[in-house]
Amino acid sequence: MRIFSLLLAGVALTLSANVSYAGESGGIHWGYDGDHGPLHWSELGPEFALCGNGKSQSPIDLLQGHKIALEGIEFSYKDAPFHVINNGHTLQELEPLSETVKSRYPKHGQTVMHLEKDSTIVFDGDLYLLEQFHFHAPSEHTIDNKHYPMELHLVHHNERHEAAVVAVFMTEGKHNPFFETFLNHAPKKVGEFLEDREHVINPATLMPKSRSYYRYFGSYTTPPCTEGVIWAIMHEPIEVSADQIQRFRSLVGHDNARPIQPLHKRFVLESNYVETASQVK
Ligand SMILES: [Zn+2]
Repeated sequence: MRIFSLLLAGVALTLSANVSYAGESGGIHWGYDGDHGPLHWSELGPEFALCGNGKSQSPIDLLQGHKIALEGIEFSYKDAPFHVINNGHTLQELEPLSETVKSRYPKHGQTVMHLEKDSTIVFDGDLYLLEQFHFHAPSEHTIDNKHYPMELHLVHHNERHEAAVVAVFMTEGKHNPFFETFLNHAPKKVGEFLEDREHVINPATLMPKSRSYYRYFGSYTTPPCTEGVIWAIMHEPIEVSADQIQRFRSLVGHDNARPIQPLHKRFVLESNYVETASQVK
């Protein structure tokens, strides 16, 4: 146990976590490059088969959305202390979870923060608990095959253990104070996590103003690529600075985006809304 030098508060600690990390899922090593990269995930073990033969995999390109009056998602995110884990694939904030939920939860890599259990969304009339959020660079989803520099994933489960992921594109622009605090809490070493009960965070700070979104059924974007995940990708990106994007990329040390997957028989729904000037990118 040692003090994390970037933080002034005496309660901010980095701890070596006895967690699965660096591309471990069920003991199988996976990553984003070469023989252990996304094109080979399904060959790494039978439990990863869906990564190769699944018919509703994520991410996808979102160009062909069907515009309808989608019901809004009700967000009820609360302040919570930081609990940030570096697991080697992304930076991620974790909820304190039951073992049952943990066993279903895919490992993304660098895990950055911890949220209280009472951050929830209501999606399709169903209550979902926010478990963690993390980031990808570049974005995993694309629009007309165009990537954003980054993408935020907020991962939720309902009481039936069905997953809902809210995704927010991150574009290069203004410095983002919330993301700055997050980066300052990111452990440098894989396998460490940082806890800071003096600083609270609220992921609502990372949501765009517009609540219109794309929606489709897909999967986790990391092994074991479990399907049955409902995705909501917000239309409007949030801004982070070029320097912040670079700092995130340095912390993770590699790209952490899975390539686009075939749509097969699925279709994408899209909120039927009128774009304002600020939403046109
Ligand atoms: Zn993700």
